Amino acid sequence: MKKIALFMLLVILILIGIIAFKTLSVPNLQTKIKANPAPALADDALKHFQQAIQFQTVSYDAPSQWDSVPFTEFRKFLESTYPLVHKTLTREIVSGYSYLYKWEGKNKNLNPYILMAHQDVVPIEETTKNMWTCNPFAGTVKDGYIWGRGTTDDKINLISIMESAEKLLSQNYQPERTVYFVFGHDEEISGKKGAVQIAALLQSRNIKADLIMDEGGFVTREKVPGLNKPVALIATAEKGYMTLDLSVTKKGGHSSMPDNETAIDILLKAIVQLRAHPFEARFVESTQDFMKFIGPEIGFPNNIAMANPSLFKKLIIQNYEKSGSGNAMIRTTDVPTIINSGMKENVIPTLATATVNFRLLPGDSSAYIIKRVKEIINDDRVIIKVRDNNITEGSPTTSVKSIAFRTVDSIAKSSYDSVLSAPFLLIGATDSRHFSAVSENIIKFSPMEDPIGFHGIDERVSIKSYQHSIWFFEQFLRSCK
Ligand SMILES: [Zn+2]
Repeated sequence: MKKIALFMLLVILILIGIIAFKTLSVPNLQTKIKANPAPALADDALKHFQQAIQFQTVSYDAPSQWDSVPFTEFRKFLESTYPLVHKTLTREIVSGYSYLYKWEGKNKNLNPYILMAHQDVVPIEETTKNMWTCNPFAGTVKDGYIWGRGTTDDKINLISIMESAEKLLSQNYQPERTVYFVFGHDEEISGKKGAVQIAALLQSRNIKADLIMDEGGFVTREKVPGLNKPVALIATAEKGYMTLDLSVTKKGGHSSMPDNETAIDILLKAIVQLRAHPFEARFVESTQDFMKFIGPEIGFPNNIAMANPSLFKKLIIQNYEKSGSGNAMIRTTDVPTIINSGMKENVIPTLATATVNFRLLPGDSSAYIIKRVKEIINDDRVIIKVRDNNITEGSPTTSVKSIAFRTVDSIAKSSYDSVLSAPFLLIGATDSRHFSAVSENIIKFSPMEDPIGFHGIDERVSIKSYQHSIWFFEQFLRSCK
């Protein structure tokens, strides 16, 4: 008995030893870079941002609601506000309202860099109109913030790029390598007219970029629990997108004599099955990279778990699953978003339909997920169709060793004081997902700090964020060697 106890103790001690050793021997991947203080924000720069918010460049799901006038006005605003950009760079107009700017570099042998931002914004929900503190299209400055639809998504990036380029041009600066700016006009409704067409255009010209940067992560003091320093979340991959329409047809009739099962019953069972069987949780490359970058910086006991992810997989997954956004980081998600059936209280409908939206974890192909959905529902009466043939697979992952990641990492640190950095998986979708044929090195990062009200009420970004965002792009453009 005593021998067994002693043996168990020894095993436990060895296990603790291994875990401690692995925790302590994790290399620290944080490059130590001291920030360069950001120059004061010019009054004009602030005014330009406020003006940009006033153009109601809204993308609607229903094409009939779309208004081209604000987009044309916004173009005129860019032309008159940034005259040097429009004198020096070439600009191509794609699909009428998307723009491809080219800033010719000195060295034609270097592959270009591409900076992306989108002009369009999401609408203001009718029911929330009165809940806004400030008019969403006024560009009000209040309490240290710039308020309005599009401040965080994504006009801050577009205007910061333009401000920094205009400033550098006024100093006769020319980048060493060519830099493109891609400003789509339909990112919020798939990017098919803007980003997709521009990517095709660049591909037809055999242009390969060493770096593409689009919106995505940001600097946060709040989003990583257990970390007491700000961290620049730099996305190196993004999830894919797919929508499935489920339908069941079964003879209906009078509600006074229902069959055991109706079309609605069958459909609801299918949805309940789907929701009861989440897809398998997995740490994809960008999530593993996140743990490697953050592990050594985070407190006990998270550091131990992150240093030994395979050993503590269950525990880490449980932690991620605590929130919807955490859960979305580790698995393909599905959620019903539209459901339709019936038209009269005493008639059993013949048709019941549901729309289910999927966000695909990189590595979970749409074909695999559709196969799994069929297995889970396990009922041939439920017809499954891909909506609009609209599938985007999860993106490839940009290596943290790439020049793209290292560049954005070091410039984020040069722009924000004592900030850490971490790669991660972006759960939303961006225009850059259409560019995988143009570059293997796509980074999704917006150099602002803790934006508020993304796609929601009281969207706003701090003035300090805007100041640092311009500073980021200025340093970025100077580094295009
Ligand atoms: Zn956006």
